[in-house]
Amino acid sequence: MNVSITLRDIGPLSIPGMEGGSPIVIAGPCSAETEAQTLETAWALTGMGVKVFRAGVWKPRTMPGGFEGVGDRGLAWLQTVKRELGMMVATEVATVDHVRAALEAGIDILWIGARTSANPFAVQDIADALQGHDQVTVLVKNPVNPDLDLWIGALQRIRNAGVTRLGAVHRGFSSAGAHLYRNDPQWHIPFELRRLAPSMTILCDPSHIGGKRQYVEHLSQIALDTGFDGLMIESHIQPDKALSDSAQQVEPKELKEILQHLVVRSGAPIDDELSLLRQQIDDCDHEMLAVLARRMSVAREIGRFKKAHNLRVVQPQRYQDMIDARLDEAAHLGLEADFTQRVMQSIHEESVRQQLNLFKD
Ligand code: PEP
Ligand code: MN
Repeated sequence: MNVSITLRDIGPLSIPGMEGGSPIVIAGPCSAETEAQTLETAWALTGMGVKVFRAGVWKPRTMPGGFEGVGDRGLAWLQTVKRELGMMVATEVATVDHVRAALEAGIDILWIGARTSANPFAVQDIADALQGHDQVTVLVKNPVNPDLDLWIGALQRIRNAGVTRLGAVHRGFSSAGAHLYRNDPQWHIPFELRRLAPSMTILCDPSHIGGKRQYVEHLSQIALDTGFDGLMIESHIQPDKALSDSAQQVEPKELKEILQHLVVRSGAPIDDELSLLRQQIDDCDHEMLAVLARRMSVAREIGRFKKAHNLRVVQPQRYQDMIDARLDEAAHLGLEADFTQRVMQSIHEESVRQQLNLFKD
């Protein structure tokens, strides 16, 4: 295994017709359902800058009994799209058999789905099947769980198999509890991946993050504003009749409008005004870190006191009062309750960890 290749060495993908820094747009239905639905959707997506057509033919479904894709025969429909419309074609692979069938059919881009990238055995099998096929492009979606290392590990396994045309897709993370979106974006995770892999193509899949078609445009704009290289968007000729992910697919004509509305901003080096503002951000962060260090030092002092007096580390009433007081104060400062709560919980968790450490001695 060649572990010397780092993500830093992975260059950007070049998609014919998308040179010059414009975002890569991959679009198409969640699933290829019939030949007519596949071809009509692909046809409707031409002429709006979509250079890559996606469609799943093998669908990993959470529950048994759902539509599991049309299987190998869908590959022939993708071949027709490629041949007749000149689009590149992409599909999901989850097993060695899928990889073999997709390569044989000349599928240009294979993507590894979120349920598969969470499983290193499955990813390694796929990587082994890709050995020697260095012309294919592979996209690795983030694993369903918010684990950056697992995502990096999957990318690394595919890279080590000799695949150089490699990119990542951010599609959000499963999370318990009610959320606005189907999958929690946790943007800091792909941002960290970007820091580690500055040149690698990282796309955003706003369809699977949002879970509803009305969020697609907003999430796409966030993605473009935060440095993603492009988008993978689900589009179906009749979304309400789709056999999978019906609520999040957009009609091709709606996609055209979304793409027209999106603003592509410069990633060029910053000008003076921006660098001054960024300096202010840096200053705020320095202050914040110094305050956090001071807070932890006080927390350790309290920890020593609790230990000396045989008191429990966590005192629920004090914790509740602290959170209530901070939420109240934060509201006056115009900070969101949800954000404040997450920050304070995380800080408190670290104080508790530090105090428990003292209890070990
Ligand atoms: C898909 O792209 O249709 C899909 C199943 O994606 P994910 O693996 O992100 O759920
Ligand atoms: Mn889907």
